[in-house]
Amino acid sequence: MSAITLSLKDGDAVSVAAGTTVQDALSQLLSNKQRKRCVAAYAGETVVDLLTPLTEDTVLTPIQVGTDEGLEVLRHSTAHVMAHAVRDLFGDDVKVAIGPAIADGFYYDFLRDEPFTPEDFEKIETRMAEIVAQNLPFERLEMSSDEAVAAFGDQGEKYKVELIEDLDVDQVSLYSIGGFRDLCRGPHVPNTSFIKAFKLLRVAGAYWRGDEKNDVLQRIYGTAFFDAKALKKYLNALEEAKKRDHRKLGKELELFTMEDQIGPGLILWQPKGAQLRRLIEDYWKDEHYRHGYELLYTPHIARQDLWKTSGHLDFYSENMYSSMDIDDVQYQLKPMNCPFHIGVYKSSKRSYREFPIRWAELGTVYRYERAGALHGLLRVRGFTQDDAHIFCRPDQLEEEIFHILDLNLRILKTFGFDSYDIYLSTRPEKSVGTDENWEAATTALKLALEKKNLDYMIDPGEGVFYGPKIDIKIKDQLHRSWQCSTIQVDFNLPERFKMSFVGSDNTEHQPIMIHRALMGSLERFIGVLIEHYAGAFPLWFAPVQARILNITDDQAAYGEAVYEQLRLAGIRVEKDLRNEKLNYKIREAQVKKIPYMLIVGDKEKEAATVAVRLRTGKNLPPMSVADFIELVKKEVTAGRGYSNFLSD
Ligand SMILES: [Zn+2]
Ligand SMILES: [Zn+2]
Repeated sequence: MSAITLSLKDGDAVSVAAGTTVQDALSQLLSNKQRKRCVAAYAGETVVDLLTPLTEDTVLTPIQVGTDEGLEVLRHSTAHVMAHAVRDLFGDDVKVAIGPAIADGFYYDFLRDEPFTPEDFEKIETRMAEIVAQNLPFERLEMSSDEAVAAFGDQGEKYKVELIEDLDVDQVSLYSIGGFRDLCRGPHVPNTSFIKAFKLLRVAGAYWRGDEKNDVLQRIYGTAFFDAKALKKYLNALEEAKKRDHRKLGKELELFTMEDQIGPGLILWQPKGAQLRRLIEDYWKDEHYRHGYELLYTPHIARQDLWKTSGHLDFYSENMYSSMDIDDVQYQLKPMNCPFHIGVYKSSKRSYREFPIRWAELGTVYRYERAGALHGLLRVRGFTQDDAHIFCRPDQLEEEIFHILDLNLRILKTFGFDSYDIYLSTRPEKSVGTDENWEAATTALKLALEKKNLDYMIDPGEGVFYGPKIDIKIKDQLHRSWQCSTIQVDFNLPERFKMSFVGSDNTEHQPIMIHRALMGSLERFIGVLIEHYAGAFPLWFAPVQARILNITDDQAAYGEAVYEQLRLAGIRVEKDLRNEKLNYKIREAQVKKIPYMLIVGDKEKEAATVAVRLRTGKNLPPMSVADFIELVKKEVTAGRGYSNFLSD
């Protein structure tokens, strides 16, 4: 047999007989310890199993335990084992579909009349453990498509047959673990001994190939890790995320609700939630005025013609609601605020001297979302964007982007987010605007990011058709990413609306328009805030800052007096002066995550003080009411960045 050269990227190479497996080659190229950490490898650009024989000179890049790619291989391999177990347990009552690895684990789709139950999950996991314990290799078989169709057809595996027929190739690859054969390209871990830590998580409905006209399958989700410790850590994080679910906390803290009679995806803010939102809005407005913005208010509907001019009826109509007839003219609910701000712009002749114009609005928009896609506050049909449009000269673009980034990060930081992923999206294939404009705008975005010392990634071709953009994803306490902020340059609307300004040369020019939202929408941002803080909001935007609890009826009048004093000082205070056990009242305040509990007993009444208990369970020494007011004001000012107390 002829000799081939197998090498690693960094240059180490061995000469071996053609037909040597990746595994055997890696044994010669890596230390034993390193070799054992390999689960698959890249042969050139292709991912292959360790048992793949090599027939030509190849550069190998090992995929190892502890890497994201390694995890993907492991998880996908675990999906096969799950399908094997399900087939073992339920026989011909199930048909198997597909089982890929996904972001945090894997799934496999099955057709089965009976729903999978938690008891089934236990059985499947037990069977999976038995399969894994046999230390079975993942064997690759190549066969002709006809042969494979016949084999799967005999077993009634109609989805596999359909997949092979759609592939339209002569030869397909199958993998077998202990006799269970599945259609797959691979790669997989060499044998089941790698599958040490896995867990089935939930089951959900899914259409075959995502098409509503097809069979409804049951999708079992699971996850797998290379060791039990990592799995446990992940499961704990899942538990923690469940506890923080904003829909659950929203109910417990009485922040928001949705009613069938009103309609799905339409949020009703309850008093506590409205207070929370008001505090965020006030802060947002203050910051905008401090940063040279002016605020606008615009209506919720406009003539349909406006949306023709803006182009939304052409390229955004699937997100818009049907039109309504007003005095024989068609009107439309707004999906965006931009054309209204342009209306304000066009209300007078603009000069370069006015630039930059920075207009912000908490603008409520309505967009169609499929019922199945709606999710608490995160995906809704009516929401309020923290929108702004900046109009400027081309030479002001970089400075304006810098200014937006500055305000953006300041606001996010004040809300407790200081870890981000930033993306710069460049020109897509289909786009409007000249090469020159795109080039200049993209460079301006880059320079602003660099001047602000921000790390960013480039998303090539992912810009909007009308201009490049910056997206900022924030990371919460569980390290989950949330897309919130977006800054977009627009060459399209100024053109469509024939916007202009008089330049220093006394002639008409077209302004640059920037769209930006920092929080995204109040609904979404508050949803993220609830999960980030697990409902225990910092004092400065906690809807209730303090609650007064008396020990017995004897201090009810004193409690009432303290309540009035705090209320008049601008503190968001509640009173619980019911004739109930103190511990019971503390527990209730604790559930509501109220930052300060002010306990008044005889001692406090006599000394005109309050005993202060924090929601963490910690106690502060008793203090006068005036001192408590001072404490709150200081903490609020520190949290918000500056005072909002009129008396200060
Ligand atoms: Zn596979
Ligand atoms: Zn806009």
